[in-house]
Amino acid sequence: MTYIKILGCFSASMTTNKFQSSQVLFHNNKSYLIDSGEGVQMLLSKYDIKLSSIDYIFISHLHGDHFFGLAGLLTTMNRRGRTKNLTIFCPNGLKEIITVTLKKGKSWTKFDLIFHEYSKSSETLLSNEELSVISFPINHRIPCKGFRFNIKSSSNHISYAYCSDTMYDEKILKFINEVDLLYHETTFLEKHKDLALKTKHSTSKDAAKIAAKANVKKLMIGHFSTRYKDLNQFLLESCSIFDNTVLAEQGKKYIL
Ligand SMILES: [Zn+2]
Ligand SMILES: [Zn+2]
Repeated sequence: MTYIKILGCFSASMTTNKFQSSQVLFHNNKSYLIDSGEGVQMLLSKYDIKLSSIDYIFISHLHGDHFFGLAGLLTTMNRRGRTKNLTIFCPNGLKEIITVTLKKGKSWTKFDLIFHEYSKSSETLLSNEELSVISFPINHRIPCKGFRFNIKSSSNHISYAYCSDTMYDEKILKFINEVDLLYHETTFLEKHKDLALKTKHSTSKDAAKIAAKANVKKLMIGHFSTRYKDLNQFLLESCSIFDNTVLAEQGKKYIL
């Protein structure tokens, strides 16, 4: 079975039950971890995802809500006796951050950490008999990447794209064209469109317009600001433009 498991789907202001960005693409008994907000190791444990099933981690950008959980996760992997390599796809600068964090605390891992820092343009990060992963630039306040996973299975091919964080930008259309499932951020409701523009985030209608223009099969929206009590408002706004929208929900599995 191939699925996406949402671990956290809220933006920067964390609460006791609203966690920051992290999710897993599960395929052929392997877990591909996408972003690592605070608490990621606790969420992996809560949802029974084996740390040994993770060989690749993809970090979209260097805002803390997408990577502050990484150092703790690596330390726990080390403590549990991991020996096999771990590859981290990341923006320039993360290697230095993690190296300083672990080495200054004399907790450098016994297993090899392989950092692949992104180039400026789109590139193929990974390609094997199970899947291929392409990164592409998305439009945020700091350098940020989206990912397209093309998953190979015996019966059919499935595709998944992850775009967070980003403002509305049609430049991504060619990279996410006709995917089976698109995860697109929607930090704000339409009434806060000014804030979305100012902080280079999206509203639900922005996400829905992108989904419609890219002709994707299904849209999942997430990266919600914790200021909103009722997430259904996001769904209503998105569905007014793109009907096949679902809300990201922590702990929920979305079959691809
Ligand atoms: Zn974020
Ligand atoms: Zn961000």
